[in-house]
Amino acid sequence: MTYPDLNMLIAGQWRKGSENTGEEVINPATGTPLAILPHASSTDLDEALDAAQTGFETWRRIQPHERAEILRRAANLLRERREHIATILTLEQGKTITEARAEVSSAADYTEWFAEEGRRSYGRIIASRESETEYQVRKHPVGVSLSMTPWNFPINTPSRKIAAGLAAGCAIIAKAAEETPASAVEYVRAIHDAGVPAGAIQLVFGVPDQVSRHLMASPVIRKVSFTGSIPVGKHIAALAAGNMQRATMELGGHAPVVVFDDIDLDRVLDVAIEGKLRNAGQVCVSPTRFYVQENVYNAFVEGFVSRAKARRIGNGLEAATQMGPLANTRRLDAMDTFVADAEKSGARILTGGARQGNEGFYYPPTVIADAPDSSMVMTEEPFGPIAPITSFTDIDDVCSRANALQFGLAGYAFTQSLSRAREISERLETGMIGLNTCTISLPETPFAGCKESGYGIEGASEGLEPYLVTRTTGQRMAA
Ligand code: NAD
Repeated sequence: MTYPDLNMLIAGQWRKGSENTGEEVINPATGTPLAILPHASSTDLDEALDAAQTGFETWRRIQPHERAEILRRAANLLRERREHIATILTLEQGKTITEARAEVSSAADYTEWFAEEGRRSYGRIIASRESETEYQVRKHPVGVSLSMTPWNFPINTPSRKIAAGLAAGCAIIAKAAEETPASAVEYVRAIHDAGVPAGAIQLVFGVPDQVSRHLMASPVIRKVSFTGSIPVGKHIAALAAGNMQRATMELGGHAPVVVFDDIDLDRVLDVAIEGKLRNAGQVCVSPTRFYVQENVYNAFVEGFVSRAKARRIGNGLEAATQMGPLANTRRLDAMDTFVADAEKSGARILTGGARQGNEGFYYPPTVIADAPDSSMVMTEEPFGPIAPITSFTDIDDVCSRANALQFGLAGYAFTQSLSRAREISERLETGMIGLNTCTISLPETPFAGCKESGYGIEGASEGLEPYLVTRTTGQRMAA
């Protein structure tokens, strides 16, 4: 299986950039180049903006029922092409082939979900105070929407934004992650092949800040949806505010995991290690700060370390691999910085803690015990296979520490007690909570954060709303 030749989709044409600029895409399992990714020039971006305006006028006039059929066709194409796309995804991103297959299936499921939801964006009639008059409320697509997505879920994250926007009748310009472009290319190819008209779906790459500034400066762009880090999210949100563009911000997290002492320890350890090491920890909802109640602390740490050591690390394309490499060298450097700071702060590194080998970007599962709450690994998003574990006394103690940060994306708790489960789910300041599970995100469930983790909702019936404007028409029966 070879990695594909990479192109952008502009005004219905798969093509390179007009100025022949670009960058290498690297295979994180080997550190070797896979392909050259073309970049869009300013002229290419202007062409995309013009085409999006025309594409929007065409697409919005297609009835929701027909739009749904086209999107369902795209979902089926993704399923037919799953093996091919999953292999490409693992080649460029590193995750295991099993995770890559699941991600492609999830992208298909999001596409199908929004195909259906688009048919259900109803308006309503409101009774007037006068007998001759009525008020109609209608939903209209917001316009051309810009989707900007990162490298950790290179097909699933674009699918949430692109399918929702198209289902609502918007045109989409997607700027996907330059480090993992082919997965997004394959997603957009399925949408294009299914029959979405030229201009209604386009895909560009480039220098992220140049592309986002250029596109967002245009009055054609009416909405922006960004997934990525908090600092970049704040920058994009400020640009959007300057142009009064709608914005959805899915930013980072630092999810607390509260483990009470009334649990089935082995089961919880199995769930926790799977959750922690999914995509080598490069997940915004990854369980990242483990608070374990005093009575079970030592046993939890011991069980976590033995499971971490048993993990098989290797090339994601090999069937036996349980965890692939990190996606890029920035993450390797970041892991070293977290570990060095933890050591300096007096924490114990119980396993891992240093890069593995020189070929590829491998970093082993790393367990850190007794990291102070003020240490870097407890206060900054690790975005890697690092698990800091600390102990707590009671629910007041753990809630105040878990809620002390500005992150508010996901949180987890493990307990057999209904009352503890209820109390913790009310007190953790996060947009999503997993109780006795690390599975919290499906096409039919709202994905959203609070505090500095962002605003706006993706997925679920709520995920369509950001792409719609609500228009009220007051109508008197006679002129
Ligand atoms: P980064 O902040 O440089 O980039 C994150 C993403 O934003 C990338 O896809 C990048 O291409 C894009 N980006 C950066 N500047 C942009 C701009 N001006 N306009 C548009 N897009 C822009 O960080 P990184 O080194 O790639 O990743 C490190 C951190 O990012 C992680 O520690 C994590 O906190 C965060 N991150 C979060 C998510 C998420 O799902 N919320 C995904 C990836 C990365």
